[in-house]
Amino acid sequence: MAESLESYYPVEIQRNDGGALRILWNDGRVCFYEYSNLRRVCPCATCGELRTQQQEAAKNPFQTVTTVTTQDVQPVHLNTVGHYALGIEWDDGHRTGIYPWAMLRALCEDDD
Ligand SMILES: [Zn+2]
Repeated sequence: MAESLESYYPVEIQRNDGGALRILWNDGRVCFYEYSNLRRVCPCATCGELRTQQQEAAKNPFQTVTTVTTQDVQPVHLNTVGHYALGIEWDDGHRTGIYPWAMLRALCEDDD
């Protein structure tokens, strides 16, 4: 990879009717992010903890945990945070997820 992920930023962010977020990056690349995927990888501390619990639970089938919502979520509000991230408020009431550009870009690079 020639360029650092930090050098990319979105020039256009659109909600897509197909259940995905569409981001046009400054290098011309277009990426689509399914809402359910974005919700699942929410980088906030609460969701990080839930994911850790789920990994632990996988090792111990007798433990039950609350799962991170991934079903049919929609963003109700999008806002840019500073010059580095996208804040997403979901229709399940969750609004603490801040997605840095570098993270979003890395998710897209993974699709290749
Ligand atoms: Zn979260």
